[in-house]
Amino acid sequence: MISYKHEPFTDFSIEENKQAMLKGLETVNAYLGEDYPLVIGGERIMTDNKLRSFNPANREETIGHVSQATQEHAEKAMAIAKETFETWRSTNPAMRADILFRAAAIIRRRKFEFSALLVKEAGKPWNEADADTAECIDFLEFYGREMLRLKDGVKVESRPGEFNRYDYIALGVGVVISPWNFPLAIMAGTTVAPLVTGNTVLLKPSHNTSVVAYKFMEVLEEAGMPKGVVNYIPGSSRDIGDFIVDHVDTRFISFTGSRDVGVHIYERAAKVHEGQLNLKRVIAEMGGKDTIVVDSEADLELAAESIVKSAFGFSGQKCSACSRAIVLEDVYDEVVAKVKEKTEKLTVGNPETNEHFMGPVIDEKSLNKIKEYIEIGKQEGKLLVGGTTEESVGNFVNPTVFVDVKHDDRIMQEEIFGPVVGIAKAKDFKEAIKFANDTDYGLTGAVITNNREHLEEARRDFHVGNLYFNRGCTGAIVGYQPFGGFKMSGTDSKAGGPDYLVLHMQGKTSSEML
Ligand code: NAD
Repeated sequence: MISYKHEPFTDFSIEENKQAMLKGLETVNAYLGEDYPLVIGGERIMTDNKLRSFNPANREETIGHVSQATQEHAEKAMAIAKETFETWRSTNPAMRADILFRAAAIIRRRKFEFSALLVKEAGKPWNEADADTAECIDFLEFYGREMLRLKDGVKVESRPGEFNRYDYIALGVGVVISPWNFPLAIMAGTTVAPLVTGNTVLLKPSHNTSVVAYKFMEVLEEAGMPKGVVNYIPGSSRDIGDFIVDHVDTRFISFTGSRDVGVHIYERAAKVHEGQLNLKRVIAEMGGKDTIVVDSEADLELAAESIVKSAFGFSGQKCSACSRAIVLEDVYDEVVAKVKEKTEKLTVGNPETNEHFMGPVIDEKSLNKIKEYIEIGKQEGKLLVGGTTEESVGNFVNPTVFVDVKHDDRIMQEEIFGPVVGIAKAKDFKEAIKFANDTDYGLTGAVITNNREHLEEARRDFHVGNLYFNRGCTGAIVGYQPFGGFKMSGTDSKAGGPDYLVLHMQGKTSSEML
C-alpha cells in the first residue's frame, strides 16, 4: 500500500480545473430541490416533515428538502445500530479499511461535484470547498491506514510460560453530531473513525448542511458499507438531540460544534440512566477564539497577510479562524496599516462564479449574531474597516477589523464566528503571550517572529492545541497537523492524528498460559 499523502489542492487558475468545477456545479444544479429520506438500516424513510436546505448566498435557492427524524425514528435507528454492532464489531478490520479507501476513490472521482455542493449548501468559495473535499478524502485515506496499523493491537510483554495480548476492540453504538462549517470533512471524519474501528453509528448532521451528508451516505453504501452500520437521521436538536445523547444504548458521542452545545451534551452524557451498562465516552470538539501574535522582530508583511487570510477565509467561519491579533506596540501602527490595506482589497459576493475572496455567512441567525458583535466592537474599540452587511439576497458580511481594543474586551473574548477581527497592543512579547492565553479557549494560535528565543517561549507557554509559527492559524492538514484544542475548545481529540482512532475503541488484555 502506498504511504499516506494528503490530497493536493486544486489550482483553479488552470482552465481544465475551472471547467471541471463548472461541470460540478451543473451536476449539482440538476438535482437541486429534491427530497431526501432518512436512511435507517439501509431503508429509505421519507417523512412528511421536511426541512428546506437553502443556499446562504441566495436564500431563495433550495438545495433540498430533508426528512426530519422523530424520536421513534431515532429509537428504530438505535435498535438497528445495536443489532448491527453484533456482527460489524467482529468483521475484518482490513475489510472495514477497504470501505474507506473505496469511498475515498469515489469522492476523488466526484471531487468537483462534492466541492460544488459545498459552494451551494454552505456558501464556500471554490478554494475553501475544494479544501473541505480534500480533507474528507484525507480522513478516509488516513483513518483506513490507521486501522491497519492498530488492527493487531499493541505489543505487551509476556513472561515465560504465558502469552499476553493487548487488543483494541470496538465500543458499541456511537452518536455522531457534526457542524455545518466543514459539512463534508468533519461529518465524514467523525463518522468513518467509529465505522472503521468496528462501531455502528447514528449520524445527525447539521440542519444547514444535511444534503451533503446524505450524498456521503450514498458514497459509503456504494463503497460496500453494510446496511445499519451508519444510520442517517437528520432532525431537529429539540426533537432528537437530547434523546440520542440520553439513550441508554448510546456508548459514545462524537460531537463537533459550539461550546454551549458541547457543554450541554457533556453534562447530559454524564448522567447514568436506569438500564445503562456503560459510562458514556464523549469526544467534544468546540469553539475557538484564536490569536495571532506579532512580535517586533518579524516580517510584518507576512504578519498582516496571515491575519487577513486567517480572519476572513470562509468569512471567519472556522473554529481555527483568527479573531484576535496581539501586536507588539512598536510595530502596531505598521501592522494595522497593512491589515487595513489588504482587507480593503477583499471582495464579497456569491461564491459560485469564483470572483470573490469571501462568500456569505451561513444563515440569518449567524448574520444577526455577527451584527450584534459589530455594535459591541464599536463601543469597545475603533472600527477600521467594514462593519457593514448586504442582506437582500444572501447573508453577506463585509470583512471587519476593530483596532485599539483591549485583549479582554468582549469582541476579544467571545466566539463571533464571522468575519470580524480585533487588534490589541502588548508592550512586550511576554505580555503578548499572556494576553493570547487570556481567553477561555485554546484551539489554535500563531506567532509571527524571527526571534528564536521568542519562538521557543511560545512553544512552551502559548497554551493552544495547534500552534503555528510564521504562518496563519487555519488550515491544519490530516496526518500532518493533528487538530484539536485545549480548555473550553474541547477534549483535544486530535482529529487526523495518531491517537484519534483509539478514542473509539477500548483496550482488552488477554493472557494465555502456554
Ligand atoms: P452547533 O453547536 O450549533 O451545532 C453543532 C451540531 O450540534 C449540529 O448538528 C446541531 O444540530 C447539533 N445540536 C445542537 N443542539 C443539540 C443538542 N441539544 N443535542 C444534540 N445535538 C445538538 O455548532 P455549529 O453552528 O453547527 O458549528 C459551529 C461551531 O462549531 C463553532 O463554535 C465552531 O468553533 C465549532 N467547531 C469546532 C471545531 C473543532 O474541531 N473544535 C470544528 C468545527 C467547528
